[in-house]
Amino acid sequence: MKHNQRVQDEMGRLAALRRYAILDTPAAEPFDKLTQLVRDVLGVPIAAVSLVDAERQWFKSIVGLPVCETSREVSFCSHAIRRNEPMLVPDATEDPRFAMNPLVTGDPGIRSYLGIPLTTPDGYNLGALCAIDTQPRRFDATQIAVMQSFANLVLNELELRQIAMSDGLTGAMTRRGLVEAAEREIARSRRYGSAASVIVLDVDHFKLVNDVYGHPTGDAVLRMIAQRCMGALREGDLFGRLGGEEFAVLLPQTDAKGALDLAERLREVVAAAPVDANGVSLRVTASFGVCSLTGDIETADVWLAVADALLYEAKAGGRNCCRSSVPSQ
Ligand code: GH3
Ligand code: MG
Ligand code: MG
Repeated sequence: MKHNQRVQDEMGRLAALRRYAILDTPAAEPFDKLTQLVRDVLGVPIAAVSLVDAERQWFKSIVGLPVCETSREVSFCSHAIRRNEPMLVPDATEDPRFAMNPLVTGDPGIRSYLGIPLTTPDGYNLGALCAIDTQPRRFDATQIAVMQSFANLVLNELELRQIAMSDGLTGAMTRRGLVEAAEREIARSRRYGSAASVIVLDVDHFKLVNDVYGHPTGDAVLRMIAQRCMGALREGDLFGRLGGEEFAVLLPQTDAKGALDLAERLREVVAAAPVDANGVSLRVTASFGVCSLTGDIETADVWLAVADALLYEAKAGGRNCCRSSVPSQ
């Protein structure tokens, strides 16, 4: 898909946003510094890093307004992400898109807006870096260029955050990154009643691989398994390495049946063909535990522990199989 077609691909855009695992995370200094800089350099009262979610815009950082999110309907930034260029609104009262917007007709009385789309390397606009004034004003070319540079810095920061959350060997998320994402999924599920599931998988008899072929071959096997699993996931699913040869998949908006189906598919892609690791061709299998979120699961640690217990049932049941918290029909 060409990059300029990405602005039409809302599902892909939301999946990209999920992959950054940034929504509802605590405030962080690099982003707060940047919004303060926008405010001071452009001389505006309000500046924000807005990420446009399905139904809302959520502010990774905002100065000048005491809110952390607004509905998507009233969001100026949700208009800015529809094009790959800066969006300028010199006077919102004269712009038919915004004249009746409650943020214009009421508090905080927005009059002018400059928003730069936050475009990922693969071409999705996650949100916008924006400068907002309560006076009508024109932003000049220098100010737009400065804003573009700040927007690039926001993107760099998002990328660095993602690299810091990646496991060096396999490219999967770190345990910490995945646990934090699972905590946010629990909060989201409580709030919106959405389904969510986790799959935990552990390579079978992996110690043998190390013992027979050596640790570097074991490492190569882990890389291949991670690649195969990541290749089989849907956009928006998060894949992490819990430690050693144990991995987990976090599946937003997926019920027990969907999760078990996916676990079966992962089991097959791991077991189906030998992996070429370090010059040797090996057959490996893995065992899976699948747990859907229920009201009595209050923390990510408990959620993963239940999935882990099911994984050990799969080990006891002969390995290369899946066990779910809900019996299959
Ligand atoms: P089971 O089917 O019961 O899971 O058997 P197993 O042999 O996979 O289980 P066990 O937990 O006994 O062994 C896991 C092995 O994984 C032991 C450890 O040396 C190896 N291991 C852990 N981390 C790494 C790693 O990063 N690289 C390599 N090559 N091996 C690792
Ligand atoms: Mg194992
Ligand atoms: Mg293990």
